[in-house]
Amino acid sequence: MTIADAGTVPLVDLAAQHHEIADEVAAGWADVVARSAFVGGPEVAAFETEFAGFSGVRRCVGVANGTDAIELALRGLGVGPGDECLLPANTFIATAEAIVRAGATPVLVDCRDDTALIDVDAVAAAAGPRTRAVLPVHLWGQTASVDELRRVLPDRVLLVEDAAQAQGATRHGQVAGGLGDAAATSFYPGKNLGAYGDGGAVLTDDEAVADRVRLLGAHGSSSKYRHEVIGWNSRLDTLQAVVLRAKLRRLARWNDERRRAAARYDALLADVPGVVRPVVAPGNHPVWHLYVVRVPERDRVHDALRDAGVGVGVHYPAPLHLTGAFAHLGRGPGSFPVAERLAGEILSLPLYPGITDGQQDRVASELAAAAGR
Ligand SMILES: *Cc1c(COP(=O)(O)O)cnc(C)c1O
Repeated sequence: MTIADAGTVPLVDLAAQHHEIADEVAAGWADVVARSAFVGGPEVAAFETEFAGFSGVRRCVGVANGTDAIELALRGLGVGPGDECLLPANTFIATAEAIVRAGATPVLVDCRDDTALIDVDAVAAAAGPRTRAVLPVHLWGQTASVDELRRVLPDRVLLVEDAAQAQGATRHGQVAGGLGDAAATSFYPGKNLGAYGDGGAVLTDDEAVADRVRLLGAHGSSSKYRHEVIGWNSRLDTLQAVVLRAKLRRLARWNDERRRAAARYDALLADVPGVVRPVVAPGNHPVWHLYVVRVPERDRVHDALRDAGVGVGVHYPAPLHLTGAFAHLGRGPGSFPVAERLAGEILSLPLYPGITDGQQDRVASELAAAAGR
Protein backbone atom coordinates (compact mmCIF):
# COMPACT_ATOMS: atom_id res chain seq x y z
CA MET A 1 0.00 0.00 0.00
CA THR A 2 1.34 3.43 -0.83
CA ILE A 3 0.85 6.73 0.93
CA ALA A 4 -1.50 7.89 -1.85
CA ASP A 5 -4.07 5.17 -1.09
CA ALA A 6 -7.49 6.19 0.14
CA GLY A 7 -6.98 4.19 3.34
CA THR A 8 -4.12 6.42 4.49
CA VAL A 9 -4.52 7.90 7.99
CA PRO A 10 -2.29 10.90 8.73
CA LEU A 11 -0.74 11.50 12.17
CA VAL A 12 -2.38 14.93 12.27
CA ASP A 13 -5.01 16.40 9.94
CA LEU A 14 -5.65 20.12 10.33
CA ALA A 15 -7.91 20.43 7.29
CA ALA A 16 -11.17 19.80 9.17
CA GLN A 17 -10.32 22.51 11.69
CA HIS A 18 -9.51 24.96 8.93
CA HIS A 19 -12.70 24.18 7.08
CA GLU A 20 -14.73 25.12 10.14
CA ILE A 21 -13.11 28.53 10.66
CA ALA A 22 -12.20 29.44 7.05
CA ASP A 23 -14.86 32.14 6.57
CA GLU A 24 -14.19 33.74 9.93
CA VAL A 25 -10.44 33.84 9.26
CA ALA A 26 -10.89 35.24 5.75
CA ALA A 27 -13.09 38.06 7.03
CA GLY A 28 -10.79 38.80 9.97
CA TRP A 29 -7.68 38.84 7.80
CA ALA A 30 -9.36 41.09 5.20
CA ASP A 31 -10.13 43.52 7.99
CA VAL A 32 -6.52 43.51 9.28
CA VAL A 33 -5.18 43.99 5.75
CA ALA A 34 -7.64 46.81 5.05
CA ARG A 35 -6.37 48.60 8.13
CA SER A 36 -2.72 47.59 7.47
CA ALA A 37 -2.54 46.95 11.22
CA PHE A 38 -0.23 43.93 11.23
CA VAL A 39 1.42 44.27 14.64
CA GLY A 40 -0.48 44.52 17.91
CA GLY A 41 -3.95 46.03 17.86
CA PRO A 42 -7.31 44.98 19.25
CA GLU A 43 -7.21 41.37 17.95
CA VAL A 44 -4.06 40.56 19.90
CA ALA A 45 -5.36 42.23 23.06
CA ALA A 46 -8.73 40.47 22.75
CA PHE A 47 -7.08 37.09 22.24
CA GLU A 48 -4.85 37.64 25.27
CA THR A 49 -7.86 38.44 27.43
CA GLU A 50 -9.83 35.47 26.10
CA PHE A 51 -6.99 33.00 26.48
CA ALA A 52 -6.20 34.21 30.01
CA GLY A 53 -9.86 33.61 30.87
CA PHE A 54 -9.81 30.16 29.27
CA SER A 55 -6.70 29.26 31.29
CA GLY A 56 -8.00 30.68 34.56
CA VAL A 57 -5.20 33.22 35.01
CA ARG A 58 -5.16 37.00 35.28
CA ARG A 59 -2.69 37.74 32.51
CA CYS A 60 -1.66 36.41 29.10
CA VAL A 61 1.12 37.98 27.04
CA GLY A 62 1.37 36.87 23.41
CA VAL A 63 4.89 36.26 22.08
CA ALA A 64 6.47 35.01 18.84
CA ASN A 65 6.66 31.27 19.67
CA GLY A 66 6.62 28.78 22.53
CA THR A 67 10.37 28.70 22.99
CA ASP A 68 10.46 32.47 23.48
CA ALA A 69 7.53 32.09 25.89
CA ILE A 70 9.56 29.78 28.15
CA GLU A 71 12.63 32.03 28.00
CA LEU A 72 10.61 35.19 28.66
CA ALA A 73 8.65 33.56 31.50
CA LEU A 74 11.96 32.64 33.17
CA ARG A 75 13.41 36.11 32.59
CA GLY A 76 10.20 37.73 33.75
CA LEU A 77 10.53 35.81 37.01
CA GLY A 78 14.15 36.92 37.34
CA VAL A 79 15.72 33.53 36.59
CA GLY A 80 19.17 33.83 35.02
CA PRO A 81 22.91 33.18 35.35
CA GLY A 82 23.88 31.12 38.39
CA ASP A 83 20.41 29.59 38.67
CA GLU A 84 19.67 25.93 38.10
CA CYS A 85 16.41 24.90 36.45
CA LEU A 86 15.19 21.32 36.73
CA LEU A 87 13.33 19.74 33.82
CA PRO A 88 12.44 16.24 32.65
CA ALA A 89 14.93 14.50 30.33
CA ASN A 90 12.04 13.42 28.06
CA THR A 91 10.76 16.67 26.62
CA PHE A 92 10.97 18.61 23.37
CA ILE A 93 14.36 20.29 23.17
CA ALA A 94 12.82 23.79 23.42
CA THR A 95 12.32 23.46 27.19
CA ALA A 96 16.07 23.10 27.72
CA GLU A 97 17.06 25.57 24.99
CA ALA A 98 15.00 28.29 26.63
CA ILE A 99 16.67 27.71 30.01
CA VAL A 100 20.11 28.06 28.40
CA ARG A 101 19.03 31.17 26.48
CA ALA A 102 17.82 32.74 29.72
CA GLY A 103 21.39 32.26 30.99
CA ALA A 104 20.47 29.58 33.54
CA THR A 105 21.71 26.00 33.83
CA PRO A 106 19.45 23.08 32.87
CA VAL A 107 19.49 20.10 35.24
CA LEU A 108 17.75 17.02 33.87
CA VAL A 109 15.73 14.59 35.98
CA ASP A 110 14.05 11.31 35.12
CA CYS A 111 10.35 10.75 34.43
CA ARG A 112 7.74 8.35 35.83
CA ASP A 113 7.41 4.99 34.16
CA ASP A 114 3.58 5.01 34.06
CA THR A 115 2.66 8.51 32.83
CA ALA A 116 6.06 9.61 31.42
CA LEU A 117 5.62 12.87 33.38
CA ILE A 118 8.36 14.43 35.53
CA ASP A 119 9.15 12.26 38.59
CA VAL A 120 8.47 14.24 41.77
CA ASP A 121 10.85 12.08 43.85
CA ALA A 122 13.61 12.61 41.28
CA VAL A 123 13.02 16.37 41.48
CA ALA A 124 13.20 16.30 45.29
CA ALA A 125 16.47 14.35 45.10
CA ALA A 126 18.03 16.66 42.49
CA ALA A 127 16.98 19.98 44.07
CA GLY A 128 19.80 21.86 45.78
CA PRO A 129 20.73 25.34 47.03
CA ARG A 130 21.11 26.69 43.47
CA THR A 131 17.78 25.34 42.26
CA ARG A 132 15.70 28.36 41.29
CA ALA A 133 12.95 26.85 39.16
CA VAL A 134 11.40 23.57 38.06
CA LEU A 135 9.80 23.26 34.63
CA PRO A 136 7.13 20.56 34.72
CA VAL A 137 6.22 19.62 31.15
CA HIS A 138 2.59 18.63 30.52
CA LEU A 139 3.71 15.99 28.04
CA TRP A 140 1.29 14.66 25.39
CA GLY A 141 -1.59 16.71 26.86
CA GLN A 142 -1.58 15.50 30.47
CA THR A 143 -0.62 17.82 33.33
CA ALA A 144 2.42 17.05 35.46
CA SER A 145 2.09 16.95 39.27
CA VAL A 146 2.62 20.66 39.88
CA ASP A 147 0.79 20.49 43.23
CA GLU A 148 2.98 17.63 44.49
CA LEU A 149 6.10 19.50 43.36
CA ARG A 150 4.95 22.51 45.38
CA ARG A 151 4.63 20.30 48.47
CA VAL A 152 8.14 18.81 48.25
CA LEU A 153 10.04 21.95 47.20
CA PRO A 154 11.09 24.99 49.26
CA ASP A 155 8.94 28.10 48.66
CA ARG A 156 11.80 29.93 46.91
CA VAL A 157 11.73 27.42 44.02
CA LEU A 158 9.56 28.69 41.15
CA LEU A 159 7.28 26.41 39.15
CA VAL A 160 7.14 27.30 35.45
CA GLU A 161 4.80 25.08 33.46
CA ASP A 162 5.66 24.06 29.92
CA ALA A 163 2.02 23.93 28.79
CA ALA A 164 2.73 23.80 25.04
CA GLN A 165 0.95 20.44 24.67
CA ALA A 166 -1.84 20.93 27.19
CA GLN A 167 -4.17 23.81 26.28
CA GLY A 168 -7.36 23.08 28.21
CA ALA A 169 -6.07 20.10 30.21
CA THR A 170 -7.10 20.11 33.87
CA ARG A 171 -5.69 18.75 37.09
CA HIS A 172 -8.14 18.47 40.01
CA GLY A 173 -10.32 20.90 38.06
CA GLN A 174 -7.63 23.54 37.56
CA VAL A 175 -6.60 24.40 34.01
CA ALA A 176 -3.03 23.91 32.73
CA GLY A 177 -1.24 27.24 32.63
CA GLY A 178 -2.61 28.31 36.00
CA LEU A 179 -1.00 25.62 38.18
CA GLY A 180 2.37 27.27 38.90
CA ASP A 181 4.03 30.70 39.17
CA ALA A 182 3.94 31.19 35.41
CA ALA A 183 3.40 29.08 32.32
CA ALA A 184 4.52 29.09 28.72
CA THR A 185 2.57 27.76 25.79
CA SER A 186 3.02 27.39 22.05
CA PHE A 187 0.64 27.96 19.14
CA TYR A 188 2.76 25.99 16.66
CA PRO A 189 0.25 24.76 14.02
CA GLY A 190 0.11 21.16 15.27
CA LYS A 191 -0.65 22.02 18.92
CA ASN A 192 -4.21 21.68 20.25
CA LEU A 193 -4.57 25.46 19.81
CA GLY A 194 -2.47 26.04 16.71
CA ALA A 195 -1.91 29.18 14.64
CA TYR A 196 -1.14 29.40 10.90
CA GLY A 197 2.52 29.86 11.68
CA ASP A 198 4.46 30.42 14.90
CA GLY A 199 3.07 31.91 18.09
CA GLY A 200 3.24 31.52 21.84
CA ALA A 201 2.16 33.03 25.14
CA VAL A 202 3.16 33.50 28.75
CA LEU A 203 0.42 33.00 31.35
CA THR A 204 0.58 34.22 34.94
CA ASP A 205 -1.43 35.66 37.82
CA ASP A 206 1.48 37.95 38.67
CA GLU A 207 0.98 41.40 37.14
CA ALA A 208 4.63 42.39 37.61
CA VAL A 209 5.86 39.25 35.82
CA ALA A 210 3.42 39.82 32.93
CA ASP A 211 4.50 43.46 32.61
CA ARG A 212 8.15 42.42 32.58
CA VAL A 213 7.53 39.81 29.87
CA ARG A 214 5.67 42.41 27.79
CA LEU A 215 8.54 44.89 28.23
CA LEU A 216 11.26 42.39 27.27
CA GLY A 217 9.36 41.20 24.19
CA ALA A 218 8.86 44.77 22.96
CA HIS A 219 12.49 45.95 22.76
CA GLY A 220 12.55 46.74 26.46
CA SER A 221 10.02 49.46 25.87
CA SER A 222 6.70 50.17 27.58
CA SER A 223 5.99 53.24 25.45
CA LYS A 224 7.23 54.00 21.97
CA TYR A 225 10.98 54.77 21.72
CA ARG A 226 11.50 54.76 25.49
CA HIS A 227 13.78 51.79 26.03
CA GLU A 228 14.24 50.97 29.68
CA VAL A 229 16.21 47.74 29.28
CA ILE A 230 17.70 45.74 26.41
CA GLY A 231 14.98 43.41 25.18
CA TRP A 232 13.93 41.49 22.06
CA ASN A 233 11.33 41.53 19.38
CA SER A 234 8.96 38.73 20.32
CA ARG A 235 5.30 39.47 19.60
CA LEU A 236 2.22 37.53 18.59
CA ASP A 237 1.22 38.49 15.02
CA THR A 238 -2.14 40.15 14.51
CA LEU A 239 -3.01 37.73 11.68
CA GLN A 240 -2.29 34.82 14.02
CA ALA A 241 -4.47 36.36 16.74
CA VAL A 242 -7.41 36.29 14.30
CA VAL A 243 -6.88 32.54 13.74
CA LEU A 244 -6.37 31.83 17.43
CA ARG A 245 -9.56 33.67 18.46
CA ALA A 246 -11.59 31.63 15.99
CA LYS A 247 -10.00 28.37 17.17
CA LEU A 248 -10.23 29.20 20.88
CA ARG A 249 -14.02 29.45 20.59
CA ARG A 250 -14.03 25.81 19.45
CA LEU A 251 -11.15 24.43 21.49
CA ALA A 252 -13.22 22.89 24.29
CA ARG A 253 -15.28 20.93 21.77
CA TRP A 254 -12.22 19.91 19.77
CA ASN A 255 -10.52 18.73 22.98
CA ASP A 256 -13.67 16.71 23.76
CA GLU A 257 -13.44 15.12 20.32
CA ARG A 258 -9.84 14.16 21.08
CA ARG A 259 -10.97 12.68 24.41
CA ARG A 260 -13.63 10.66 22.67
CA ALA A 261 -11.09 9.37 20.14
CA ALA A 262 -8.64 8.50 22.94
CA ALA A 263 -11.36 6.55 24.78
CA ARG A 264 -12.14 4.72 21.56
CA TYR A 265 -8.47 3.74 21.07
CA ASP A 266 -8.45 2.55 24.70
CA ALA A 267 -11.35 0.22 23.92
CA LEU A 268 -9.98 -0.95 20.56
CA LEU A 269 -6.53 -1.71 21.99
CA ALA A 270 -7.62 -3.12 25.36
CA ASP A 271 -6.91 -6.74 24.49
CA VAL A 272 -4.08 -6.33 22.00
CA PRO A 273 -1.06 -8.31 23.25
CA GLY A 274 2.17 -6.33 23.44
CA VAL A 275 0.52 -2.89 23.31
CA VAL A 276 0.56 -0.80 26.51
CA ARG A 277 -2.03 1.99 26.45
CA PRO A 278 -1.42 5.46 27.96
CA VAL A 279 -1.95 5.89 31.71
CA VAL A 280 -3.88 8.87 33.11
CA ALA A 281 -2.90 10.01 36.62
CA PRO A 282 -5.69 10.44 39.22
CA GLY A 283 -7.29 13.91 39.05
CA ASN A 284 -6.10 14.51 35.49
CA HIS A 285 -8.33 15.30 32.54
CA PRO A 286 -5.90 15.28 29.57
CA VAL A 287 -6.47 16.92 26.18
CA TRP A 288 -4.65 14.19 24.24
CA HIS A 289 -2.24 16.31 22.25
CA LEU A 290 -0.85 12.88 21.41
CA TYR A 291 -2.06 9.33 22.03
CA VAL A 292 1.12 7.41 22.84
CA VAL A 293 1.29 3.63 23.23
CA ARG A 294 4.29 1.52 24.23
CA VAL A 295 5.33 -1.46 22.16
CA PRO A 296 8.35 -3.76 22.13
CA GLU A 297 10.36 -3.61 18.90
CA ARG A 298 9.06 -0.10 18.38
CA ASP A 299 11.13 0.69 15.29
CA ARG A 300 9.86 -2.40 13.49
CA VAL A 301 6.24 -1.67 14.46
CA HIS A 302 6.67 2.00 13.49
CA ASP A 303 7.96 1.10 10.03
CA ALA A 304 5.24 -1.53 9.49
CA LEU A 305 2.52 1.03 10.27
CA ARG A 306 4.19 3.68 8.13
CA ASP A 307 4.41 1.24 5.22
CA ALA A 308 0.71 0.42 5.70
CA GLY A 309 -0.18 4.11 5.30
CA VAL A 310 -0.70 4.89 9.00
CA GLY A 311 0.95 8.13 10.11
CA VAL A 312 2.91 7.39 13.26
CA GLY A 313 5.45 9.42 15.21
CA VAL A 314 7.89 9.22 18.11
CA HIS A 315 7.80 12.04 20.68
CA TYR A 316 10.71 11.94 21.26
CA PRO A 317 13.27 9.43 19.96
CA ALA A 318 16.13 10.60 22.23
CA PRO A 319 16.05 12.01 25.77
CA LEU A 320 17.82 15.36 25.91
CA HIS A 321 21.05 14.09 27.54
CA LEU A 322 21.58 11.79 24.54
CA THR A 323 21.26 14.60 21.96
CA GLY A 324 24.33 16.29 20.50
CA ALA A 325 23.02 19.65 21.71
CA PHE A 326 23.14 18.62 25.37
CA ALA A 327 26.04 16.17 25.32
CA HIS A 328 28.03 18.84 27.20
CA LEU A 329 25.90 18.18 30.29
CA GLY A 330 28.04 15.06 30.63
CA ARG A 331 25.19 12.67 31.39
CA GLY A 332 25.81 9.52 29.37
CA PRO A 333 23.61 6.51 28.65
CA GLY A 334 22.17 5.06 31.86
CA SER A 335 21.79 8.47 33.55
CA PHE A 336 17.97 8.54 33.22
CA PRO A 337 16.95 4.91 32.75
CA VAL A 338 13.18 5.43 32.64
CA ALA A 339 13.36 8.18 30.00
CA GLU A 340 15.81 6.08 28.00
CA ARG A 341 13.63 2.96 28.10
CA LEU A 342 10.52 4.93 27.14
CA ALA A 343 12.29 6.55 24.19
CA GLY A 344 12.74 3.09 22.70
CA GLU A 345 9.12 1.97 23.23
CA ILE A 346 6.83 4.96 22.60
CA LEU A 347 4.74 5.31 19.47
CA SER A 348 2.29 8.17 18.75
CA LEU A 349 -0.87 7.18 16.86
CA PRO A 350 -3.02 9.40 14.60
CA LEU A 351 -5.33 11.58 16.70
CA TYR A 352 -7.05 14.87 15.86
CA PRO A 353 -10.52 16.39 16.03
CA GLY A 354 -12.52 14.87 13.19
CA ILE A 355 -10.69 11.52 13.01
CA THR A 356 -13.31 8.99 11.92
CA ASP A 357 -14.23 5.68 13.53
CA GLY A 358 -13.15 3.96 10.31
CA GLN A 359 -9.72 5.58 10.47
CA GLN A 360 -9.28 4.56 14.10
CA ASP A 361 -10.40 0.99 13.33
CA ARG A 362 -7.80 0.83 10.59
CA VAL A 363 -5.01 2.15 12.89
CA ALA A 364 -5.95 -0.34 15.62
CA SER A 365 -6.02 -3.34 13.28
CA GLU A 366 -2.72 -2.43 11.61
CA LEU A 367 -1.16 -1.93 15.05
CA ALA A 368 -2.49 -5.27 16.30
CA ALA A 369 -1.14 -7.01 13.19
CA ALA A 370 2.29 -5.36 13.46
CA ALA A 371 2.66 -5.87 17.22
CA GLY A 372 1.60 -9.54 16.97
CA ARG A 373 4.17 -10.41 14.31
C1 LIG B 1 6.05 22.84 20.83
C2 LIG B 1 6.73 22.78 22.15
C3 LIG B 1 7.57 23.81 22.61
C4 LIG B 1 8.05 24.96 21.76
O1 LIG B 1 7.19 25.66 21.05
P1 LIG B 1 7.59 26.44 19.70
O2 LIG B 1 6.39 27.28 19.49
O3 LIG B 1 7.80 25.42 18.63
O4 LIG B 1 8.81 27.23 19.97
C5 LIG B 1 8.07 23.74 23.89
N1 LIG B 1 7.82 22.68 24.67
C6 LIG B 1 7.07 21.65 24.27
C7 LIG B 1 6.82 20.51 25.21
C8 LIG B 1 6.50 21.66 22.99
O5 LIG B 1 5.76 20.62 22.59
